[in-house]
Amino acid sequence: MRTPHVVENWIDGRSHGSVGGESLPVIEPATGAEIGRMAASGAADVDLAQTAAARAFPAWAALPATERAAMLERLAGLVERDVERLALLESTDSGKPLSLARSVDIPRAAANLRFFAETVREWKADEDFRAPHAVSRVMRRASGVAGCISPWNLPLYLFTWKIAPALAAGCTVVAKPSEETPMTAAALGELSAEAGFPAGVLNVVQGRGAECGAAIVRHPGIPVITFTGGTATGAHIMSVAGPMFKRTALELGGKNPTIVFADADFDAAVAGAVRAGFQNQGQICLCGSRVLVERGMYERFREAFVERVRALRVGDPMDAGTEQGSLVSAAHRGKVAAAVERARAEGGRVLCGGRAPEHSELPERVRGGAYWLPTVIEGLPMNCATNQEEIFGPVVTIQAFGDETDAVRLANESVYGLAANVWTADHARGMRMAEQLEFGIVWINTWMLRDLRVPFGGMKRSGVGREGGEEALRFFAEPKSVTWPG
Ligand code: NDP
Repeated sequence: MRTPHVVENWIDGRSHGSVGGESLPVIEPATGAEIGRMAASGAADVDLAQTAAARAFPAWAALPATERAAMLERLAGLVERDVERLALLESTDSGKPLSLARSVDIPRAAANLRFFAETVREWKADEDFRAPHAVSRVMRRASGVAGCISPWNLPLYLFTWKIAPALAAGCTVVAKPSEETPMTAAALGELSAEAGFPAGVLNVVQGRGAECGAAIVRHPGIPVITFTGGTATGAHIMSVAGPMFKRTALELGGKNPTIVFADADFDAAVAGAVRAGFQNQGQICLCGSRVLVERGMYERFREAFVERVRALRVGDPMDAGTEQGSLVSAAHRGKVAAAVERARAEGGRVLCGGRAPEHSELPERVRGGAYWLPTVIEGLPMNCATNQEEIFGPVVTIQAFGDETDAVRLANESVYGLAANVWTADHARGMRMAEQLEFGIVWINTWMLRDLRVPFGGMKRSGVGREGGEEALRFFAEPKSVTWPG
């Protein structure tokens, strides 16, 4: 039997169990087995972490940006050195294919750390403005202790996307990964010591959102909160952080359209729509879960799309050929199953999937896992719950549109506004669509292609604020304007 994992908090430069001694199981979702225990932290643990972070803050913020950058780069190097170990932890913890964790999640975590190291080196924290009789200087200084709360779908990728700009800007951090996927964040805490981070600069507290996460949000000594997760949780966090006048950034859910025009490169559009719909089992906020296809080629596209989705290899995340792993938990699979039931009740026709795989369809090791077959549903109006509510699983709806105006109308018929992807051979049309789509991110003939310098985030109920580039550094710094005659 393998040694069970022990996941502890990383506070003030060392590992700790929770103050109350409580723990939670760590489950491997692909098998359903308990593979370890994690600290179940609460307010007392968050207090310890905040105290350490507040103590470390003045010296960290006073370091030259180049020194903070060098430490982030050393940490990136350690993540790259340990890519195999971290990818294995990530895949085991989340159910995602090991090949995806190895090629996307972990390399991107290292890239996040490197990117913000480079960005802070170039960043002008002080800026002068000259007028005829006055000079004003804007001085941006780190805000203090930042609370960073991240979700389970891209665990280390999104964890580093939050902590890297905070640390680069000079904040110290109290961070909480999702209780579903605690392992890589715990490993990163340990690696931060090896990279030379002073004790207290990066603290990782593990536990449930409603206890540990909520304690971060309401802690008076944590003036900045950055959160990625569900829209309902985001609304709750805002209701607590708002009256405390905390600086808050929210990256929330999405119900994103993939829009395919008849002039698009057919094969590229089919492949793109499959990838956008089902990467990471559809558990990415950017996934295209509403496929809109121009009427003239709807039937042909639907046929090719469904054939490709049916052919996706569902299997053991550890097998090299697996394209679809398990969902993050049995509870989440229950939510996906209920959403598909509701789609049927709303009159949707299930074109493929629509059920959990039979035991005989899965390798023996993962027969107890939280699997769901990639699902395509047709015949639903845009205003039904299936097309309006985020499912966050391998479930996509497909529908036809008439012309550009119709495509824009259908795509924008959503309370969410995170990301749209448009497939067309006519770039001018792509740009016209981008102008009219109410989404923070628009991809033309591609999906999830990111330049880390550009703002990332959504409109409407998909979030408040933008991450990425200098905007992220600015978020963690208070501007002060100083003016003198001159
Ligand atoms: P949740 O909102 O449930 O959780 C996100 C994080 O918040 C977790 O660490 C969770 O802890 C914590 N949390 C839960 N309740 C509270 C609370 N009351 N106070 C403070 N923290 C809390 O989202 P999921 O983890 O289920 O993630 C999926 C969601 O994230 C989807 O809606 C998806 O669209 C969105 N998302 C958005 C992205 C974006 O950039 N816009 C990117 C990726 C995902 P715990 O899990 O331990 O309960």
